[in-house]
Amino acid sequence: VFVCFEGGDGSGKSTQSKALAAWLEAEGYGVRLTFEPGDTEVGRTLREIVLSPETGELSDRTESLLYAADKAEHVRLVVRPALDRGEVVITDRYVDSMLAYQGVGRPLELAEVEHVARWATHDLRPHLTVVLDLEPSHGLGRFEERDRIEGESVEFHERVRQAFLGFAAADPDHYLVVDARRPVEAIAAAVRERLLPLLSQ
Ligand code: C5P
Repeated sequence: VFVCFEGGDGSGKSTQSKALAAWLEAEGYGVRLTFEPGDTEVGRTLREIVLSPETGELSDRTESLLYAADKAEHVRLVVRPALDRGEVVITDRYVDSMLAYQGVGRPLELAEVEHVARWATHDLRPHLTVVLDLEPSHGLGRFEERDRIEGESVEFHERVRQAFLGFAAADPDHYLVVDARRPVEAIAAAVRERLLPLLSQ
């Protein structure tokens, strides 16, 4: 089973993905908790390039290709092998982040970005994507130091937010949208409830 957490910066994706992993482990499941960008050796370098303010200007296409390269490594070296071992894979960000940030946030064609992202990942799709929905001003307020992306305008982050909500609305069978302001434990419970039937399949 492949589960993905998506949402804006500061929406609690890493807290929730860790909570879900801990619960699944306690229930006896094999779990691989992972994230994008940067959970492979090449990915760590790519993450540094795309996020460091020292990188300076990156064209939107270059940025997209770097994220795509991170995904290709991530699927090949982490996600696919863990799924093949029968583990539950939980990722903090995946294809939808690229679609939302690069395909909708940036002035690029969503269909083109999607094509690249699907190609990079062999079109491997999560069984469930949890969107932690939060007003951008709320999420970004949690950070003191900002990376290249967190320094983008509120309008950029609002486009990203609406993109996630749009993907979920278009495919409700594969998405769960949760209000990220709810208490951590309430969100975790909602995620578990939604995931349970998938685990017994
Ligand atoms: O989730 P995490 O904080 O590790 O993400 C790192 C940064 O990369 C965030 O600022 C996020 O907005 C940005 N990002 C992006 N495009 C992606 C994935 C992440 O701009 N496709």
